[in-house]
Amino acid sequence: MNFEGNPLSTLLATLSPYIVRVTVLETIQRSTEYLTRKGVESARLNAELLLARVLSLPRMRLYLEFERSLASKETDLMREYVKRRGQREPLQHILGGTNFCGLEMLVTARVLVPRPETEILAELAWQFLNRLPGEPLVLDYGTGSGCLAVTLTRKSSRCRCVALDVSPEAIEVARKNAEAHLVTERITFCLSDRLAGLSPGTRFNLLVGNPPYVSSGEIPLLDPEVRQFDPLLALDGGADGLDHYRYLAEHAAEWLADSGKMMLEFGDGQQDAIRSLLEGQNWIVEAVVNDYSQRPRIVVARRPVSVQK
Ligand code: GLN
Repeated sequence: MNFEGNPLSTLLATLSPYIVRVTVLETIQRSTEYLTRKGVESARLNAELLLARVLSLPRMRLYLEFERSLASKETDLMREYVKRRGQREPLQHILGGTNFCGLEMLVTARVLVPRPETEILAELAWQFLNRLPGEPLVLDYGTGSGCLAVTLTRKSSRCRCVALDVSPEAIEVARKNAEAHLVTERITFCLSDRLAGLSPGTRFNLLVGNPPYVSSGEIPLLDPEVRQFDPLLALDGGADGLDHYRYLAEHAAEWLADSGKMMLEFGDGQQDAIRSLLEGQNWIVEAVVNDYSQRPRIVVARRPVSVQK
């Protein structure tokens, strides 16, 4: 039977937000079920983080307010967020940012969402920079959101950084993050395809980066959050995923100071190929560092000794 247009059902629909109030706990439970059905990982955590944002509360406060009823505006907003998340839009896009090394970073669809494993790269980099004298100069190759450039200039108070990206939209996001963290004076933004746009004669003490490393053929196999919402430009590393590593192995040394280093994140199973690319160009591979799942993820290489400058 169809009740649409029925005066009673219209009245009920109008009044329902005032009569049927859902509580915080019910909202979390229903949203969790919905997100689980849609294949979202850590559905409950996602639901809680979205609701915390809707209610402008720290997530843990939700636990003290399980019985609180949501206002209809809050329910509407939550419904919208949960629907977007159910369509596999990344949580970070819906929230508009993410935490990286304890710093809030603005994130939009124009940049790769910063990942926890890149925090390991950041820490290795700032520890190295803090051991250097003077004002070390860093190149952030493919800065994206600027998470590395901003974090390094924050954690290493003497360093300066060139944040390079081929995407003007990414540079814009990185600049906003630098402004928010008050480090614009120590970061030079450089719109450049690979290393072509750098000022000749610059010598960096460190090149860091998380270049695109997914092989073109594997892009369709990535999670929807990555495949549909991270910029392809930040993911696609060519036929074998190694285009940028091959390029950097060949061209980065001439931009590095003596005893300069390169620290690069890479993808699953690429360790051997990257080591041989680097060693083939006389780089000294000093370390390969695992990520939180104990998979090799970051290579630390020292500049070849004999390089034509
Ligand atoms: N880590 C991304 C992924 O989830 C890839 C990022 C990159 O290509 N650098 O596949």
